[in-house]
Amino acid sequence: MTVDDLQSHIEDILDVLSEDSDKEVSREELEKELRKFLEYGVPIEQAKQTLIKKFGGSVAFPSSTSERTLISDLQPNESSVNLLCRVITINPKEITVKGESRKIFYGILGDESGTIPFTAWKDFEIEKGDVMEVSNAYTREWQGMVQLNFGDRVKIEKTDEEKLPESAYEPKEFKIKDLRSGLGTVEVTARILDLNEREAEVSGETKKVFSGIIGDETGKAQFTSWHDFDLKKGDVVRISGGYIKSWKGIPQLTFDEKAVVKKLDAGKLSKEEVQTRKMPLHLLVEKRGALDVEVEGTVIEIRDGSGLIMRCPECNRVLQNDECKIHGKAKGKPDLRIKLVVDDGTGSVNGIISREITEKLLGKALEECKKIVEKSKDENVLVDEMNNMLFARRINMQGNALGDEFGTTVIVKNAQLVDVNIKEESARLSQELEGLQ
Ligand SMILES: [Zn+2]
Repeated sequence: MTVDDLQSHIEDILDVLSEDSDKEVSREELEKELRKFLEYGVPIEQAKQTLIKKFGGSVAFPSSTSERTLISDLQPNESSVNLLCRVITINPKEITVKGESRKIFYGILGDESGTIPFTAWKDFEIEKGDVMEVSNAYTREWQGMVQLNFGDRVKIEKTDEEKLPESAYEPKEFKIKDLRSGLGTVEVTARILDLNEREAEVSGETKKVFSGIIGDETGKAQFTSWHDFDLKKGDVVRISGGYIKSWKGIPQLTFDEKAVVKKLDAGKLSKEEVQTRKMPLHLLVEKRGALDVEVEGTVIEIRDGSGLIMRCPECNRVLQNDECKIHGKAKGKPDLRIKLVVDDGTGSVNGIISREITEKLLGKALEECKKIVEKSKDENVLVDEMNNMLFARRINMQGNALGDEFGTTVIVKNAQLVDVNIKEESARLSQELEGLQ
């Protein structure tokens, strides 16, 4: 839970107490108590009510009405909402709370107005496709999206599918750049850029699964199809009825036999139109990740772990003092890499540049680099050279960007220095200005 989120809960409690309690309690005290509850894995709503009672308030949390809310009308931080919805996807997840492992569930719910990601903090025995009446669920905001939560107070009743016919919600059209985790029933028109086939076990049956990369004029995404639509690399297709999950910020369109896939004239979206998209860094950081993206910025740091490194011959992990975390002492395979931080003035990302591109940037092959390090007996000699070559220079990088708790990292597939000749640039600008006058 973020600091802001915690403060908003404390605000809620103080609100209630200020109205109907004459006991004095400080914000600090409440925060300490609330944190303690949360540490023990007590659901937030229950913790709030307990604290309100403890400090003399009556549990007059917003009285639950039985009125149904449409998913598209849900706002963040609603403490009690009622829905009629369908389970579009549901997946289990193991989390550890205070050293104890606990099974929760997450997925997407939909109604005729839209879809929403949800988390169920215990097993309510709901399955994909179930239509249910939900009361006393609560909402939160997470990464700019409203999220629905099933806590301890929630009541879930499965109901007749007819109450919410599947035809009630029409797919909505999206460009790939706008796809984000939690969207359901989307419609995407894209070119299939890469396609793989594998077999997977689904409830005891072996099934063919198709996955790969799709792209449109705004970006690229991964996809998985659980049904054989006879897709071919190079096809331009309209896929209606998929939903979006994401991995490290990279969107993934998933669809099955319920989706409608229509092949279009390949000229509708030519290969040239589906290009690598250049993105300002703040946008990439906001999205956390992206598939095959181009970024440009100034190198502001060459990080530890750059230079000549030794890898374990068995697992390829980087050795520390000739030792692999898994395989112990090992005679390492030499490799080169650059870890750097790039900033474009709007945001910054990490980059990892592998051997081939490092050789290109340095103008030196691995063998030569090895000799330089051996000769100088100084491990930092290569890193110094990388600094001379790259620090404060403008670099253009292409690759997949992955987001995690440490930020966004571009796994660089291609990179080149961009020469910004300031004199030439200013001459060009002043010429343009003259032309305007
Ligand atoms: Zn190893």
